[in-house]
Amino acid sequence: MNRSTDLYVDGKRRILVADDEIVNREMLENILCDEYDVLLAEDGEKAYDLIRQNRNTLSLILLDLMMPKLNGLDLLSRLKEDSDLKGIPVIVLTSDQDSEVESLVRGAADFIPKPYPQPDVIRARISRSIELAEDRQIISATERDELTGLYSYEYFSRYVEQFDKYHPNSEMDALCLDVNHFHIVNERFGMAKGDEILRRIADCLMTVFSESDSVICRKNADTFLVYCSHRDDYSSITDKVSEVCSDMPTSVKLRIGVYAYCDKKLDIRARFDRAKIAADLIRNNYMVYVSTFDETLMENELFAEQLVDEFSKALAEKQFKVFFQPKFNIAGDKPVLSSAEALVRWFHPTLGMISPGKFIPLFEDDGLIAQLDEYIWRCAAETIADWKRRLGISVPVSVNLSRAEMYDPALVNTFEKITSDFGITSKDIYLEITESAYVRDSDQIVDRVKELRNHGFFIEMDDFGSGYSSLNMISELPIDALKLDMMFIRNAFDKQNDTRMISIVIDIADYLGVPVIAEGVETEEQYLALKKLGCTIIQGYYFSKPVPAEEFEKFLVEKDS
Ligand code: C2E
Ligand code: CA
Ligand code: CA
Repeated sequence: MNRSTDLYVDGKRRILVADDEIVNREMLENILCDEYDVLLAEDGEKAYDLIRQNRNTLSLILLDLMMPKLNGLDLLSRLKEDSDLKGIPVIVLTSDQDSEVESLVRGAADFIPKPYPQPDVIRARISRSIELAEDRQIISATERDELTGLYSYEYFSRYVEQFDKYHPNSEMDALCLDVNHFHIVNERFGMAKGDEILRRIADCLMTVFSESDSVICRKNADTFLVYCSHRDDYSSITDKVSEVCSDMPTSVKLRIGVYAYCDKKLDIRARFDRAKIAADLIRNNYMVYVSTFDETLMENELFAEQLVDEFSKALAEKQFKVFFQPKFNIAGDKPVLSSAEALVRWFHPTLGMISPGKFIPLFEDDGLIAQLDEYIWRCAAETIADWKRRLGISVPVSVNLSRAEMYDPALVNTFEKITSDFGITSKDIYLEITESAYVRDSDQIVDRVKELRNHGFFIEMDDFGSGYSSLNMISELPIDALKLDMMFIRNAFDKQNDTRMISIVIDIADYLGVPVIAEGVETEEQYLALKKLGCTIIQGYYFSKPVPAEEFEKFLVEKDS
């Protein structure tokens, strides 16, 4: 059992005084009893018994060398051979100078000569020995990571500080290394395989860095940190790690964030935070495994933090506004307004208008998106109801859903409540769900989409073509419209006017019996080409940018006339 590093009994540390002379025991007890909880033993055997009984609470032993039954030096040797007891510091009490050396050799922490010095000197020696022993224990308890044998983070940080002190002019890099999708390894193949992979990575890193100034630790789970002299290229490490794990049931890819030429004025944590920011940037990238930190990354990170911090206040102060972008049906001779998409904008008091592309992904990561989306859905519903009531016109408005919301069992209830609160119906609100939401855990998502459709909601699959759904899956998807990813339009018209991909998607939509919506349509040329290809609905700057509700009313009035 490990001795705890905080040894207090009723608020005091416990000390054993082992001396056969009663005068000495009483004197020491008197000097120490205010500050310590003092146990007394009059011979070596008794002392040994008490030590074993109190091995987890004893902070120090004061040991007379000349005692009956078991003498002090033999007792000392016995303690030092016992792994449970050897950590307890022993101060030897002796009048014989030769024995002082002998007892230090056998592992005593210190000695106090007889006749005894001033009480203050005794107290000072005792407290110093306890302190030293406790410090040493902290270090040895946390020095190594048990699984990999690498340093623990605490020890690593201290080591790095020491290293800098002795090598102030070395150019050093801070590296943060993470295994891509490690949780999946554990989930699918079990912890034992996961542990084996981590051990191999650790061994591999030790080999790779064996010839340079370097310190390595495992920070937690699958995150490793390396502090090493600067190198220009770390890309071979990922390959080496994949190689040593090649017989594992899954391929192991290490992504590496590099903060090169560390600014030594930054504390250790800040340096590795930078490396981590760089590593996180390539989390879902399957082509790039090394990423280097630069100052713009830091700015982005701070900007992101600010947005997340200010979210609640912004929501309470209604800084988020919903804009509407029209969708036109172009099947007939003249385009006819068919619906609108609700798109959020953040009007920030100091930063001005912020586009959703900047904050939606952050809020999706932080779990704030559900609050924001529900707010937006309610705003959209309120506007729909207002148009109906005031203008007598009803145009469906589609709102965007984030992937995480698709796991919410209360989602249907939320929409039912919104429609009933504002006196509108499920026919008034369309739901845009991005294609990539369908790709993972598709069963659960598909069930939720079916549930929404059963309640009368119209489902548009957003960004179609960007999520790589298999054709197999598409035929079973419960959807009411396919919304072409904007990239199709860009690629088709930017390059060699090759619209074949668009035709294929339109064919797929025909097969599914649903209309195709093209978004991001900016020019007449695009509009005409899409019309010719058989695309039914168009959204884009060609007709209008997203506009505030009041401005959108012109489209409603126009449609009505
Ligand atoms: P999205 O759903 O794919 O929305 C379409 C985006 O394309 C909108 O950008 C829209 O303003 C923009 N767009 C429309 N026509 C054109 C065009 O002709 N040319 C160009 N270059 N862009 C056009 P926006 O408003 O910046 O939204 C970006 C993304 O943010 C949206 O992409 C959507 O995924 C997300 N988003 C917006 N509002 C919400 C929301 O309320 N909730 C959630 N979860 N996501 C939202
Ligand atoms: Ca959308
Ligand atoms: Ca889209």
